[in-house]
Amino acid sequence: MTTLRTWFESNRSSLKTRWLKAMGRTPSAGLGCDWPGLFEIMEAGIGCDAAIPTGVAAAVRAWVIAELSVRQGSPSDALAAIFLLRTTFTDLFREVEEGSVVTGWPAHVAAYLDRMAILVAETLVDTAEQTVTDRLTETLKLERDQLEALYTITREISASLDLTLVMDRTLRIVSKAVGASHGSIMLMDQEKGVLVLRAVLGRDRMLPVEGEPTRFKLGKGLAGWVYEHRQALLIEDVTKDSRWMKSKRGNDRTRSLIIAPLIVDLDNYGVMTISEEQPGFFTEEHLRLVDTAAGQVARAISNAQLYSYVSQTAQKLGESLRREQDEASKSQAILQSIADGVVVTDAHGRIILVNSAAERILGTRWRSMLGQDVRNVFAILERGEREEMLKAMEALAANPAAYRDSPTIIQSKLAMEQTTVSAHMAPVFTSGGQFVGIVSIFRDITREVQADIAKTEFVSTVSHELRTPLTSIKGYTDLLMAGAVGPLMEDQARFVNIIHNNANRLTALINDLLDISRIESGRVKLAFRPLQIRDVVQNVVESQRAQFEAKGLVLEVELPEDLPLVQGDPERLAQVMDNLVSNACRYTPEGKVTITVSQMQGALRMDVSDTGIGIPAADQSKIWDRFFRADHPLVEEVGGTGLGLSIVKMFVEMHGGRIWMDSEIGKGSTFTFILPTMEAQGSVIPKPESEEIEAVSWVGAGRKTVLVVEDEPDIVALLRYQLEAHGYRVITAMLGDEALYKANAERPDMITLDILLPDRDGFDVLRELKGNPCTAEIPVLILSIVQDEESGFRLGAVDYLTKPIEERQLIESIRAILDHKSRVLIAEDNPETASLLSQMLEHYGFLTMVAVDGYETLATARREKPGLILLDLRMPGMDGYEALVRLKQDAETRDIPIIAMSAHAADYRSEREKLLSLGAVEFLSKPFTVEQLVVELERVMGGSHG
Ligand code: ADP
Repeated sequence: MTTLRTWFESNRSSLKTRWLKAMGRTPSAGLGCDWPGLFEIMEAGIGCDAAIPTGVAAAVRAWVIAELSVRQGSPSDALAAIFLLRTTFTDLFREVEEGSVVTGWPAHVAAYLDRMAILVAETLVDTAEQTVTDRLTETLKLERDQLEALYTITREISASLDLTLVMDRTLRIVSKAVGASHGSIMLMDQEKGVLVLRAVLGRDRMLPVEGEPTRFKLGKGLAGWVYEHRQALLIEDVTKDSRWMKSKRGNDRTRSLIIAPLIVDLDNYGVMTISEEQPGFFTEEHLRLVDTAAGQVARAISNAQLYSYVSQTAQKLGESLRREQDEASKSQAILQSIADGVVVTDAHGRIILVNSAAERILGTRWRSMLGQDVRNVFAILERGEREEMLKAMEALAANPAAYRDSPTIIQSKLAMEQTTVSAHMAPVFTSGGQFVGIVSIFRDITREVQADIAKTEFVSTVSHELRTPLTSIKGYTDLLMAGAVGPLMEDQARFVNIIHNNANRLTALINDLLDISRIESGRVKLAFRPLQIRDVVQNVVESQRAQFEAKGLVLEVELPEDLPLVQGDPERLAQVMDNLVSNACRYTPEGKVTITVSQMQGALRMDVSDTGIGIPAADQSKIWDRFFRADHPLVEEVGGTGLGLSIVKMFVEMHGGRIWMDSEIGKGSTFTFILPTMEAQGSVIPKPESEEIEAVSWVGAGRKTVLVVEDEPDIVALLRYQLEAHGYRVITAMLGDEALYKANAERPDMITLDILLPDRDGFDVLRELKGNPCTAEIPVLILSIVQDEESGFRLGAVDYLTKPIEERQLIESIRAILDHKSRVLIAEDNPETASLLSQMLEHYGFLTMVAVDGYETLATARREKPGLILLDLRMPGMDGYEALVRLKQDAETRDIPIIAMSAHAADYRSEREKLLSLGAVEFLSKPFTVEQLVVELERVMGGSHG
């Protein structure tokens, strides 16, 4: 690295030559000074510090004394030498470095040389004092006075940055030193181009603070000439000089004049004048003194300007720094004090900030995570959630712009060991739109989740408890009304009727509440079966006809004959229909209600329209909320719970359908829902063989459905042929949007996706499929001519085949995706248990195989690669523990998840821990319920088993 010292060394010779050359130009050149000697002394102190080292100072003093006494040199020359060195130095810096690495050096060296000048001046004065007594000559005395003047100026100027003060003082000292009574300092006003009087001596009028403009411009008058030519002048008699501009007032008695330019380095600030009324008053010595003093004033101006610039800049910088620090510490304080955990990662996924709440919520392990890749941190979370978070993060990092304008952000729920945490992630952009990282907010929602569970349980318990007394109330009022205890009087009958009606309302309310709490807690299992929506609609119409007649409303039904079947729970669908039709009746004072059933591609559409009161636009989104009832006299009058529509919506969605509404106030409303149909060609559903099979969950019980997304009709036909030949059911979509709709409505078991679609990019479709919780789990196989496996896999495709596709490859890939996932190997030696398990699992759509001992388990696992092994720990020969260890050692079977089961666990906890450490994913202790088993299987196999 270049230091000032090394710089100096490499530039020494040119510096010295320049300096000596400059010295040669001074009037007193060649007086016999030992300039090189001074240079060497001075050189020794360069770069040490601004202060002069003691050794150097002593050498300087010795040099000065020798200069004056031995070499008989002139003190002003000695002082001028130092000033010149300073100028030479700064000029050279400027030329050589052009402001690059050495920004601080010129100032440093200048300061050093300033001190040197003071030291030289001090020594000169001291020495001259002595020499005066020795030699007592007039010249020397004068010389001493001048020297003293320069010394004082030098000292004052270095000490003060107040320009006005410096100029006044300098004028006074200089004029005193030369014995003159008048003087002035004029500075150039660069904008106006005139010299402005800034300090004046020997005049009674005070100067205004901003100075007094003069007539002198560049080249005008003697002052203008000196300013232009940058050269000092000594005029014996101004009246004889053609450049002299006489004062207009004619009161100017000036005859002798010295004018020196205020020059430092390259800057020219103005002029200094000293004058007398007597002609021929000044000598060359005076001129030199004034010229040197003018140089000093110029330096002071330059310093003052530099100082004010530097201090302003420093102040500005300081202010903005302070502001920034204030802001930063404010944000820090806010971040640390908020209750939500905040984790910030940079654009590369490295953690750059973790606040204390985040540490509390996520565990202290995070403290040491600063600077780490966020993926390592998520590794400590349980497997499933980690993947969800990472997927979300990666999707975000891969395409941050897509999330830029949407304030909702990626959300997910993490079930930690003991807590539940909600996570929100949002990308951060600079104002210029550059992606800089991701902010994740974590909130501990354990209590909310627990409260929610507790609330659901409470509602469910209370509803049950209320039902018992209600049953009696209803039963007995029914008996009373039926006249079981004799006829009732008119009033009695009216009162009993009121009780009866309210008991009915209460029952309805309780049923609704119970429904909601059961749906929410996941306890409502729909009994799906193939059904004709026709039957459902007709039943509902029959049951409600009386109500319509009572109100004088017309009920119209448009019900086509041959509608395709839908998979559904007839009771729940009837409840949906019933609710919509009864709302239409209740909220329609006059007119008619129309029920229309129509067929769409892959779905049935049901419309319930009325000519009733309608729903204000502002309320339309709220009517699906629980307990919401519009503010309308009729609504108040008919009464209700406000729960019906929220239940309806849940049921429709549980059927894979959608519901929406359209309404105009005063004109009427139309509620519409659609349900996916069973496949068109499969409408002849084989008769269920037994009651038990009829109740089989439709999920996975039928043939596997593949949604083929492809716009080329020939390829569609080909894929259909190949897939159907292998027993798959095929539905198709030509467009991206259509694919999204069908995936949502039909919930196929898997999707084959072409990348080049007429309306959208297939990768976009894939991203949307994976972003929608309803379709995220459906495996997607990409069939494309575009070779971009990486994007496909990153976005969540499970396989990627490039066209042209070989049938064998296609079918193998689909099998691997669909079949293996839902195949469960039951390793169980007891034939009864094995058969019970396989029946149960088949009931839920799994394919099962049985192995009766450890050896068979290993062999079958290797051969069949099941999606999961249900392993009994007590088996003859090789027992379950050993089988587990071996399965985990074998590369072929290592990845198959294993659920261990046993009826003999003495200590369930320690047993479970042991098994998990061996590689099992779960341990079930017999007896376990079917639900428990299925939940476990679904969890392990990723939720969608086919
Ligand atoms: P409830 O009918 O018991 O109040 P719902 O959940 O079925 O509860 O309906 C919620 C609200 O939606 C009703 O209170 C009513 O304000 C409005 N609403 C529902 N159906 C209709 C309709 N067909 N016409 C006008 N308003 C309706």
